[in-house]
Amino acid sequence: MTNKIILNSGEIEDYCYAMLMRMLKDNLIPWRKENIQIYPIPRGGIPVAYMLRYVAQKHSPGTYFNITFAPEKADVFIDDIIDSGKTMRHYISEYKKPFHALINTNTNIDTVYWYVFPWEQGLEGDESATDIATRLLEYIGEDVTREGLRKTPQRFLKAWNDWTNGYRQRVDNFLVTFEDGGKGYDEIILIKDIPVYSKCEHHLADIFGVAHVGYIPNGKIVGLSKINRVVDMFARRLQVQERLTTQIAQALFEALNPKGVAVVIKARHMCMESRGVNQQGHTTTTSAVRGVFLDKPEARAEFMSLIK
Ligand code: ZN
Repeated sequence: MTNKIILNSGEIEDYCYAMLMRMLKDNLIPWRKENIQIYPIPRGGIPVAYMLRYVAQKHSPGTYFNITFAPEKADVFIDDIIDSGKTMRHYISEYKKPFHALINTNTNIDTVYWYVFPWEQGLEGDESATDIATRLLEYIGEDVTREGLRKTPQRFLKAWNDWTNGYRQRVDNFLVTFEDGGKGYDEIILIKDIPVYSKCEHHLADIFGVAHVGYIPNGKIVGLSKINRVVDMFARRLQVQERLTTQIAQALFEALNPKGVAVVIKARHMCMESRGVNQQGHTTTTSAVRGVFLDKPEARAEFMSLIK
């Protein structure tokens, strides 16, 4: 079992300070030189080099590290970690310049540590988040060490990030309306069969189906693909179908200021179909109407007949 050490940004700053002191103490960099050219080893050395520059300015005014991306111009090479030492040996033999890293695992002979840097703690490297999937696999009785499941926690997080990317979008970021062509047009603009992929908030199970959206413009129209985006944005959140339908109608009503908006969603719920009552192929229909579709039954009837 390896000991996992998850480093935060404050700790990286401390490690950078320690590295700077090592460099100073060992006189391993041309210290009196005004502009010390540092070359960050891709990729982990890049954030370290910037942090080192910051730490040097903070603790040693007058010392200025300039980050270069030309290794032949480097006075010193910077990396996040020395593991096998292969990278370090390559750069030292090639350029004959000192090589420093935040962490040198070669010096910890007794214990094997596994370091996780802040820049590795994103989607795929987020150790605490992947633990969620690992615990789930254990809970359902799986062997989390078997080959097929080895990368499943990371894939799981990545997929969930896609399925819920609606949380990171806003309607006004993409719903740009324009006046051209909208004037005088007061028929229903209809977009049928917009795909809906959502997740129910009670079981985190799939909800999938189609949305039909109609609106009657009031001078402003919008690109048809943008209607799909609005549907997709609200679908890619945890939902109940009724709220999803209402949110789409309300957002379009506010953004387009139309004479009316009507939204119908027909969807299947895996939490109902594949367990419990087992209503296979059962479709749930919800609708939300605003403006003339609410006020005038004939407008609503026309929309309903159009989507049949
Ligand atoms: Zn459910």
